[in-house]
Amino acid sequence: MNAPILPGGQAVLGVLGGGQLGRMFVHAAQRMGYFTAVLDPDPDSPAGRVSHHHIEADYLDPGALDRLAGLCDAVTTEFENVPAAALADLAARLPVAPGADAVAIAQDRAREKAHFVACGVPCAPYAEIETIEALAALVAPPSAAHEGAGGGAGLFPGILKTSRLGYDGKGQARVATPAELAAAWERLGRVPCVLEKMLPLAGECSVIVARGADGALVHLPPQRNLHRDGILAATEVFEQNMPPALMEQAVVAAKSIANGLRYVGVLCVEFFMLEDGALVVNEMAPRPHNSGHYSIDACDVSQFELQVRAMAGLPLTQPRQHSPAVMLNLLGDLWFAQGGGAPATPPWDQVLALPGAHLHLYGKRDAKRGRKMGHLTLTAATQAQARATALRAAALLG
Ligand code: ADP
Ligand code: MG
Repeated sequence: MNAPILPGGQAVLGVLGGGQLGRMFVHAAQRMGYFTAVLDPDPDSPAGRVSHHHIEADYLDPGALDRLAGLCDAVTTEFENVPAAALADLAARLPVAPGADAVAIAQDRAREKAHFVACGVPCAPYAEIETIEALAALVAPPSAAHEGAGGGAGLFPGILKTSRLGYDGKGQARVATPAELAAAWERLGRVPCVLEKMLPLAGECSVIVARGADGALVHLPPQRNLHRDGILAATEVFEQNMPPALMEQAVVAAKSIANGLRYVGVLCVEFFMLEDGALVVNEMAPRPHNSGHYSIDACDVSQFELQVRAMAGLPLTQPRQHSPAVMLNLLGDLWFAQGGGAPATPPWDQVLALPGAHLHLYGKRDAKRGRKMGHLTLTAATQAQARATALRAAALLG
């Protein structure tokens, strides 16, 4: 194992990707005394604008990767669709966390599900669709010989998801019949997909774990997540926000998924809580996650500090949540909800008059519908108060 990269000297920590996750990583690293470098082609990227160094180039630009490797003592990533080849290239020269292998698995739903199954963590019943033959097998009516088991009958109604590059509900189609499946696969461009059985959800939750190169594992408390139109809308974190046995099960599952990857860094694992009380894994993200943003204001170690510690080889201490919290995502739609046709700044002065309101804006130039512009975390002494404040904030924002 490498010696820890200590803060307070000349050490530079680098991140591939300049979005809001990179920005909050940069904030955490700088607060601890590191210099930072961001690789992102966008001159206005949220992280690039606050970093000491910003390399404006493509993730696979060899010169840019050389510059990043020359500048940095360690590198991490803020999104899973960074080419795994870029991580592998950098890993030959300096510590990279998470590793290219783990990111490559998380980039591909089919490989990701196979990994869950290998770790003994159940996921929704699914089938891979890579070819027209695989599709045909699923849409064929069950033959007499295979009655009951034929085709993909057991997977309807289902959700067809592209294996790669899906996020925030994009690259998905709900399909009730074989004919709808065939049409949806055409619409998605005949790319490799998985068809997943639609499950009766009682709710959704996620667990963020951090694992060090020495195998040490810590976790944030399980979060309950509310999605709207496929995008995370709100996260609630209370000590008792789920049955204790389910929380324990989610933490154990997330840790075994991280261990199975010999993962180094911050990993978020999303779960479905089913109506019958069962817990089923949905997907994972090899990076800090939107559902963990509350940890900046409500925990003594945030998910971004865990990311810094893991990549620098510093000790990972078990985070403690000191306040119940509700996190509201701030989408660009709010800028359009202020009356008048043109986008307008929401009434932050009124929102910030609420006790325990922590505003995080990501420095994005233009508000667009569906675009994540920031988030608001409401902390309070009790769960009821945090919820009540969140409702007042939501009412002010329209
Ligand atoms: P993304 O990568 O876009 O986040 P997800 O696979 O997490 O895609 O799906 C987005 C949302 O769609 C989930 O958070 C959940 O609300 C719903 N969903 C996805 N798969 C299923 C399923 N098999 N059964 C029921 N709901 C699902
Ligand atoms: Mg998801």
